[in-house]
Amino acid sequence: MAALGGRGRAAAALLRRAPGTAAAPGAGPRRHRHKEKWATTAPRIPSTRLALHHFDTSYGLHLGALWPSVRAGLLCEQKYGALLNNFAAAHHVPQELELLNATDFVSQASQKAQQWQRGAAVGEAATGCQEGPGERRTGMQAEMVTQAEMSPPLCTSSKIKCYTFPRGDITRFSPARPDALGLLDYYLMDAASLLPVLALNVQPDDFVLDLCAAPGGKTLALLQTGFCGHLAANDVSVSRTRRLYHILHSYVPKEVRDTVSVTSYDGRDWDQVKGGTFHKVLVDVPCTTDRHSAMEEDNNIFHKRRTKERQMLPMLQLQLLMAGILAARPGGAVVYSTCSLSLLQNECVVERALDVAEAQFNISVQVEDLSHFRTLFQDTFSFFPDCRLGELVLPHLTANFGPMYFCKLRRM
Ligand code: SAM
Repeated sequence: MAALGGRGRAAAALLRRAPGTAAAPGAGPRRHRHKEKWATTAPRIPSTRLALHHFDTSYGLHLGALWPSVRAGLLCEQKYGALLNNFAAAHHVPQELELLNATDFVSQASQKAQQWQRGAAVGEAATGCQEGPGERRTGMQAEMVTQAEMSPPLCTSSKIKCYTFPRGDITRFSPARPDALGLLDYYLMDAASLLPVLALNVQPDDFVLDLCAAPGGKTLALLQTGFCGHLAANDVSVSRTRRLYHILHSYVPKEVRDTVSVTSYDGRDWDQVKGGTFHKVLVDVPCTTDRHSAMEEDNNIFHKRRTKERQMLPMLQLQLLMAGILAARPGGAVVYSTCSLSLLQNECVVERALDVAEAQFNISVQVEDLSHFRTLFQDTFSFFPDCRLGELVLPHLTANFGPMYFCKLRRM
C-alpha cells in the first residue's frame, strides 16, 4: 500500500502548481487537463494481495504451524475429482480411469465404513460396549450427538462415485465426453465439495433442499445418490441459476430433472415459502472463497469496493443457516458448508445459529460428530485436526483440495 499510495501522492504533487507560475510547456490549456483515469478507478493494491495479507494475519494465528503449508497449497494448482454421472451410458469410464491409476474414494470409504460396522457389531457382541470410530466424546463434543445414535456413518448404499488421482499425483482429468444421448460422463469438481453431500447422508425418498445451489456441483452430486424423492434447488442469483440449469441439462435426463424444482428466492426468506418440510437441507453459503480470493483478481471479495459486503458475510451466513434449520422438519438434518478457512465464517456461525435457534425459535439443534470422516477419507484429504465443531479440509501440496468446511446439525 505504501508504494502505490506514495505514487498517488507523487502524481498529485506533479499536478499541483505554485500560484502565479506558468503552466509547464506542453501542459496545454487548463480545460484540456484531466486527472488520469486509472488513478481513481484502478485498485491501489491487488485484491489477491489484500486477501493474502488478511489470511496471513488470521489463519496464521488459527492454523499455527500448519499455515505455511496451507498457504502454499492455496497458491498452487488445485486438484480435481471426477464425479461419475450415473445417468450417462458410461460404463466403460471407471475402467478407463482406473487404468490411469485414479480410484473412487467414495467406494473406498464405504468399504472402510462397512468393515467398521461389522467390527463394531462383533465387538459389541463380545463386550457389550457401543463405542466405535468417531464416537469418543470430549469437551464440547460431549454435547454432540454421536453418529451411531443417528444413522450409519456413511451412506454406504449411495451410488455416488468420485475418482481422484493418488496423493502427490497431479495428473489432470481430460474433459468430460457426451454419451449417445448427449449426457456428459463425469463432472470435474473439487473432490472435497462432495464431503458436505456425503455428510448429509440422503436416504431413499428424502425431500432435500439445496438452499444456495448455483452453479450446481453439489446439486448434481445430490442427484447422483439416486435417493432424492424431491430436490428443491434454490439460488438468489438468476445468472448463476442459469448455470445450474445448464448443468442439469448436460448431466441429467428429463425424467429426473422433473423431480427438481429450481427457484431464485432469497434463501433467507425460505421459511415463508416452505418451512419445516425437508428431511435434508444443504446450506452451502457464499463465503470468502479463499482459494479464488488468493489467486484471481476477477470478482474478488477482497476488492476495496466490497469491504462492507465481506464484513457482512458472517451475518448473511447466519441468516441462511437459520433459514436452513427452519426449513428442516423435526428430526431432519442440515449441513452447513463453506470453502473458507475462516473461524468467523465457520464454527462461529454454527455456534451462533445454535444459540439463536434456541433463544428465538425455541428449537433445539444438535451438532453431529463427523470426526469419523477424518479417518474414512484420510487417504484422499488433509483435515484440520482441531475443529471444535464440524470438519475442515485443508489444502496441501500433495492433496490440493479444499478448503472445505462442513458441519452437520440435527433439528430435534
Ligand atoms: N452449492 C453451490 C455448488 O456446489 O455449486 C455453490 C454455492 S456458492 C458457494 C454460494 C451461492 O449462494 C452463490 O451461488 C450465491 O449466488 C448464493 N447466494 C448468495 N446469497 C444468497 C441468498 N441470500 N439466498 C440464496 N442464495 C444466495
